[in-house]
Amino acid sequence: MFEKVLIANRGEIALRIHRACREMGIKTVAVHSTADADAMHVRLADESVCIGPPSAKESYLNIPAILSAAAITGADAIHPGIGFMSENAQFAQMVEEHGFAWIGPSPEHIRIMGDKVTAKRTVLELGLPVVPGSDGPVETVEAALVNAARIGYPVLIKAAAGGGGKGMKVAWAESELREAYQLARGEARAAFGNDQVYMEKYLAKPRHIEIQLLGDHHGTVVHFGERDCSIQRRHQKVVEEAPSPALNAEERAFIGNLAAKTAAAFGYRGVGTMEFLYENGQFYFIEMNTRLQIEHTISEMVTGVDLVREQIRVATGAPLGYGQDDIKFNGHSIECRVNAENPVTFAPSPGRIDGYHAPGGLGVRVDSALYDGYRVPPHYDSMIAKLIVHGNSRNECLMRLRRAIEEFVIGGIDTTLPLHQRIIAQPDFINGDYDIRWLEEWMKNQP
Ligand code: ADP
Repeated sequence: MFEKVLIANRGEIALRIHRACREMGIKTVAVHSTADADAMHVRLADESVCIGPPSAKESYLNIPAILSAAAITGADAIHPGIGFMSENAQFAQMVEEHGFAWIGPSPEHIRIMGDKVTAKRTVLELGLPVVPGSDGPVETVEAALVNAARIGYPVLIKAAAGGGGKGMKVAWAESELREAYQLARGEARAAFGNDQVYMEKYLAKPRHIEIQLLGDHHGTVVHFGERDCSIQRRHQKVVEEAPSPALNAEERAFIGNLAAKTAAAFGYRGVGTMEFLYENGQFYFIEMNTRLQIEHTISEMVTGVDLVREQIRVATGAPLGYGQDDIKFNGHSIECRVNAENPVTFAPSPGRIDGYHAPGGLGVRVDSALYDGYRVPPHYDSMIAKLIVHGNSRNECLMRLRRAIEEFVIGGIDTTLPLHQRIIAQPDFINGDYDIRWLEEWMKNQP
């Protein structure tokens, strides 16, 4: 087992990883920017190292600073968390070359899945259904026109290096294609420094269904069921639930086993998630995230498995020690992502927390690095808390969630808690009757 893990991240996920390490008897090293000197994960870690100024580029993305911090503290492994360096294959490789263990998949798998064109090709060859689209990258407007005519409108132009919903544009008709193509390329270049794009059929009303996977270094891969992440705004998840109210037991077993079998076929190790769109009873692969995901929590709640602990354990080379049949599913879980934003205009709202009270009680979990008096810095992602609730049934879960949101106090700044309270009160949500466009359509009709 590792003795000391460096956590190359910040915020709630750094704290989440620290907690798993602590329970495993592993010492932790927090690295932080000057803006995060007072952060909770820094306070709780055994050691901390300041790695740069507030700008992420000079701190949380600063490879020499992170590797130096690992060397001077004598860490034996690096956990990249979510975002920042977690899907940087070159960094993963450098970590290993410098003699540290990398708590994540092989650099090769990060590279393959990080390019969505290669990712789709890889899983297609292994028998996974993918969204119909271009065979590879689309290099010119002319090629885009030819592809769109073949695929049929509406079409979606997507960045090969995409993430966080950036570099994605819809063309509803031929007249919109040229502009959508140029916009997607421009956005991709700005966000990822890579303007390669590909095309997909724009599905009308799909749900976003994803499968949580875990593989060891010995060829065993298991799944922890699905998550329904269809409540989205600007292609970003807002509320997630497990299991999906849209799937029956047969579909659930089908897609879970298929995803696990595919990941095992290419020797995937560590935690990872295969994302699918689901429409009219069909699943279409869209991408694989080769890291922990924000919403891993709801899979933990319905299986009782600490996925971060398992991720760390398999990174040591330990065999999984259990199989698919040992993973038992129990009840229902929903997560709300709480952002430091105005709940109506979504204007960012960083600043000092004045009054903080997290809800509690049976089946309520808050993953957050907030505390009273903490200053939410303006430099990073706006997500400040995850409210995760478990119930024996979906209905119990919904009632509990409503009660927990009522109790949650985050004073001094605007948060999206009021938006969550309204979403979960909508009859469509209560009935589980929603797709990836539901939230934006509902918001459009609000006064
Ligand atoms: P990113 O990596 O930027 O998150 P994804 O490929 O995972 O991009 O897609 C994010 C979201 O965009 C999906 O959850 C879905 O809501 C929407 N989306 C992606 N591809 C399609 C498609 N072909 N048709 C309709 N919606 C799509």
